[in-house]
Amino acid sequence: MKAVVAERIWRDGSFEPGLAVVVDGTTIADIVPQGSFGTDVEVEDWGRVAIVPGTVNAHGHAFQSLLRGFAADRPFPSWRDEVLYPFSERLDGDAVYTGALFAFAESLLAGATTTVDFFYLNDGDNENAGRVVRAAQEIGIGLVLARTFYDEDAPTSAPKRYREDPVDAAARCRDLHARHAADPLIDVHPAPHSLHAASPETIRMALDLARDLDVPCHLHLAEASYERDQVVERYLTTPVRLLEREGLLDERLVAIHAVWLDEGEMDLLAGHDVGVVHCPGANAFLGDGIAPVPELLRRGVRVALGPDGGCANDRQSVFDEMRMASLAAKARLVDGGALDAPTAFDMGTRAGADLLRQPVGVLEAGRRADLVALDLDDLSLHPLPMLERNVVHSMQATAVKRVMVAGEVVVEDGCLTRIAMDEIRRRVTETTSGWKRP
Ligand SMILES: [Zn+2]
Repeated sequence: MKAVVAERIWRDGSFEPGLAVVVDGTTIADIVPQGSFGTDVEVEDWGRVAIVPGTVNAHGHAFQSLLRGFAADRPFPSWRDEVLYPFSERLDGDAVYTGALFAFAESLLAGATTTVDFFYLNDGDNENAGRVVRAAQEIGIGLVLARTFYDEDAPTSAPKRYREDPVDAAARCRDLHARHAADPLIDVHPAPHSLHAASPETIRMALDLARDLDVPCHLHLAEASYERDQVVERYLTTPVRLLEREGLLDERLVAIHAVWLDEGEMDLLAGHDVGVVHCPGANAFLGDGIAPVPELLRRGVRVALGPDGGCANDRQSVFDEMRMASLAAKARLVDGGALDAPTAFDMGTRAGADLLRQPVGVLEAGRRADLVALDLDDLSLHPLPMLERNVVHSMQATAVKRVMVAGEVVVEDGCLTRIAMDEIRRRVTETTSGWKRP
C-alpha cells in the first residue's frame, strides 16, 4: 500500500488540504489525514499539486483523430460525405491501431483516464476492435469499447465495412465482451449506431444483449436537425417518441448528443431514466446546435460529457468539454448562471462513471485509483482560492502534471510513460502521408 500525499485533494465538490489518497494496488483504499498512516504504508509525496479524479470521456471515435483538420470547417453533409466516409475507407488494421494510440495518448495527456471508443470500422468481425483494445492496454487507459451495430440495409451512403447483419453484430459483441471479461480496465458495450443506421429491431437486440451482459447500451440520438426531420418523415414521429413507441426507452440506454428535443421528449428521457452524453464541442464544431442540458439536469436526467471523434471537435479533453458545456449553456440561455463549474466538473467525472457503470470518477474507497495531479504553480489555476471554478473555466492543459490509472503513473510531466511519443508521431505521419484535404 502507498499513500499519495498532495497539497490539496478533491473531495465532495471542493479541494481540501491535509489529506492523502491511500492506494492498494489498483484501487483507492481510503482518503485519510496526512500522517495517520501505519508503518506498512509507503508515503509518496506529489508536492505542490491538487489531485482530482481522472476525467471520463463518455463518447468518442478514436480513429477519427487521424482525419483531424481534413474535415474541419465544413457543413455536416460535406464533413461526412467528402471526408468521414471516404477517408475511413483508407484505414487498414494498422491505421486503426495508430488512430487509437493517437486519440488515447491525447486523452491521457489531457487527464482522461477512462474513454469510450464507439467503434464501427468492424469489417464484419472483431479484428479491428481488438486492435483498439490492444492500443488501450499498451498505453494504459481504461476503455469502454462500444461495439457498433450498423444495419446492412441502412439508407445511408456509409461504407460497407461499417455494416453487418444485427444477429452477427450481437454475436460478435458478446464474443468481444467475453474475450476481455478478465481485464478490469476493458469493458465492451453494445452500440446500435443511430436511428438512421439501426432499425428499432436492431436497437431492441442491442438492448437485450446489454441487459444480458449487465452493461449500458449506447445510441447516437437527435444530433442534427436533419436527422430529426428524417425520423419524422420515415416513422411519422420524433426520435424519442419513436423509441418510446417501440418500448426502447430504458435506464441502460446512453443517448449521445440529444440536441434536438422538445419539452415532451425531455420528460420522456427523464421518466425512463435514460442517460445522456453531452458533446458540446462537437455539436458546435459541426454546426449541429446546443443540447438543452440545464433543462435535462433540472428534470433529473443523468448527463455525462464526451469530446466525440477527433475530427469533430477537434480536441480530446474532457476538461475542455466541461468549459464548453458551461459556456454553451450560458450563451444559449443568455444567462451567466445557467450551468456552473461544479456541475460541469461533476458531469465530466462522477456522472460519466455512473453512466458507463465504471468504478471511477470519484476519489473514494473501492474505486479505481485513477488520479490526475494539477500543478498548483500553473498560472491558469490562479487565484488558488477559486480553484474549484478555475479548473473548469481557466485551466490550460499545461496544468496536468501527472496521471495515474489503476495505481500506475502513465503520464509524467506531459509525457506518456509506457509508449514513446515519437513512435506515435511517426505512425500518424506515416499513416496520413500523401493525404490531401478534399
Ligand atoms: Zn459519435
